[in-house]
Amino acid sequence: MAESKRDYYEVLGIDRNADEATIKKAYRQLAKKYHPDMNPGDAEAEKKFKEASEAYAILSDADKRRQYDQFGHAAFEQGGGGAGGFGGFDFNGADMGDIFGDIFGDLFGGGSRSRRANNGPMKGANTRASIRITFMEAVNGCEKQLELNLKDECNTCHGTGAKPGTSPETCPKCGGKGQVVYTQQSLFGTVRNVQTCPDCAGTGKIVKEKCTDCRGTGYISNRKKIAVTVPAGIDDGQSIRIRDKGEPGVNGGPRGDLLVEVNVARHPIFQRQDMNIFSTAPISYAQAALGGEVRISTVDGDVLYDVKPGTQTDTKVRLKGKGVPSLRNKAIRGDHYVTLVVQVPTKLNEEAKEALRRFDAATGNSLNQPQTQAAPEKPKKKGFMDKLKETFEDLDN
Ligand SMILES: [Zn+2]
Ligand SMILES: [Zn+2]
Repeated sequence: MAESKRDYYEVLGIDRNADEATIKKAYRQLAKKYHPDMNPGDAEAEKKFKEASEAYAILSDADKRRQYDQFGHAAFEQGGGGAGGFGGFDFNGADMGDIFGDIFGDLFGGGSRSRRANNGPMKGANTRASIRITFMEAVNGCEKQLELNLKDECNTCHGTGAKPGTSPETCPKCGGKGQVVYTQQSLFGTVRNVQTCPDCAGTGKIVKEKCTDCRGTGYISNRKKIAVTVPAGIDDGQSIRIRDKGEPGVNGGPRGDLLVEVNVARHPIFQRQDMNIFSTAPISYAQAALGGEVRISTVDGDVLYDVKPGTQTDTKVRLKGKGVPSLRNKAIRGDHYVTLVVQVPTKLNEEAKEALRRFDAATGNSLNQPQTQAAPEKPKKKGFMDKLKETFEDLDN
């Protein structure tokens, strides 16, 4: 005897008079929380997920709900009193996708046409496109126009694919269900195997005379212009989801979404890593030695930066808040890191050369004699204990 089942309304945490939308909402929340993909290896979550899925499968179906309200769980037990019976609930069976297709399509960004078809409303497939924008457009955000072929329902046959004046016939193989059920006896009892009907490809209908405008597909392609709002801070390779601009839904289901991948062109000066920007700025030898203001390019325009006297080449400075804005909050911005590179002059006139010679003499050096340089200190030989200590310090880090 199977363990006693919880009441389906209790499982979903809803009132017995709850309407369809409430049932769906309650299940969506539970499914999101307990879905095995979100809780890998968690047996308790899996159990909860199955329990909620079973409750939803019954309560979301008006007929089954009526039976359940009348007979309780007995309505769906093998050989039970319910009309037809539900014949057990096979969670590993392929029919899960059909019952919960629209919910999981929303939850996990699915909506792919490869999901098994059925007769109910089904969200259309997502489509993809890409746009190319400049570095600065990514930093500041922009509006782009995208031109693409969008599938629409054929006006001539209104999506049926049948020649005007005729209508699609109910598929004789599956009786219009779109699915064929094979029953197999196995060691573990009766196994129900549900497959997409091969004759009608799951639509439940067969078109005898095809509409000539859409060649029986039910869809026609229209060239459409779509406005894409690119948010400030978007990075190369990220996608923007535009709702309801994918393929048309099936049987009155909503359209799929359009996913627009954004390709960001390189910038001649700036490089980007996440929200930070990196660049180099040349400074003159005199500026490095004496200090002073230098002009540095940022995405906000040029700024003046006060270089300290005696700045060495490759000194890195940070311009706080001059980076890329966060996608989520425009007010939060990364930083801009600038590497100051001291330029050694290459083309000198006689006057400049003379000035440099005088500078050299004034600082006590001579260009005509090899510079005396202190020999590098010999590294001290390390004792055994020192080496051992170093090893342990490494381990600590
Ligand atoms: Zn047509
Ligand atoms: Zn069929």
